[in-house]
Amino acid sequence: MDLITHFLVPYIILVAVKSKNKLAGGFGGISPDFDTIFVAWIGILAPQFFIFSHRGITHSFIFGLVTSTIFLYVISRKQVNGFISNLIRRDISVKFTKTTIAIAYFGVLIHLFLDYLTTLGIPLFFPFSVTRYAAGIYQSLDGLTIIIAAIVLIILYLKLDYKYKKAAMAIFMIILISFGGIRACEKFNVLENETPTLNGNYNQISVYPTTDMFEWNVVKINAQNSSYIVSEYNTWSDQESNVRTFNTPSIENGNYSSAQNAINIANNLPVVKQFKWNSYYTLVDAKYTGTKWDITYYDILKSYTGNNITVSVP
Ligand SMILES: [Zn+2]
Repeated sequence: MDLITHFLVPYIILVAVKSKNKLAGGFGGISPDFDTIFVAWIGILAPQFFIFSHRGITHSFIFGLVTSTIFLYVISRKQVNGFISNLIRRDISVKFTKTTIAIAYFGVLIHLFLDYLTTLGIPLFFPFSVTRYAAGIYQSLDGLTIIIAAIVLIILYLKLDYKYKKAAMAIFMIILISFGGIRACEKFNVLENETPTLNGNYNQISVYPTTDMFEWNVVKINAQNSSYIVSEYNTWSDQESNVRTFNTPSIENGNYSSAQNAINIANNLPVVKQFKWNSYYTLVDAKYTGTKWDITYYDILKSYTGNNITVSVP
């Protein structure tokens, strides 16, 4: 989810319960996404540390607390929030106390929940596990939500009668919850319609969101994880379209065991591990050029970090 929504949801909940520390919740809510500035470069420079990426380490229960506490400490400093308050001409002062630390962490928990709703998900239990958890009902960013959230933020910023602000916040929450609910129902519909089409060869099915809440990507996989059928499903017309089949590994030139050897070597490279961690399904093309194997890893769904990489193995 986007930064504005991450600010607004905990902020609005805290307004609803009449908390004095709603800003601390909003700041906690946005803190995990500052990984794009302070953390992600580590994973880019050193792929073996792929957990240092956007939606990596700061999006876990434990390091989320560390992140929000550091963020709150910095933003509660007089120089920092004085500077920002001057810049935006609104008072954003917050205190750094046990209560505000806890409220900022509440913002983080809301953040983790919202990002959990998106595809690819987040490593909630890091450092115990690098597994990503995802409900997959939204794409990582949702255009419609961003537009509505931006309008609500502007209304909150303007010097308007408080009743308009309250109405804007209520409408935002209603829209967010109903769109989320519709998406969850539509995903369930797709699963219900498509599961009976599985046959002996293809026995696993997964459904992924697109920008359109009535259009879903369907992936069916065989038991050996070597063949994938990808299609689009429209829940208005109840029709499947754009059906494509992918097989992996696909081998060009050279023999199978030599290719498999090269793939095994390539699988251990940090860039490949990083690519796999960021992909939904990693498929492999191996091509022998006469002197080396070019191994291409690609994702059959559009993941947010790029769609393929090629490494060479002598
Ligand atoms: Zn996030």
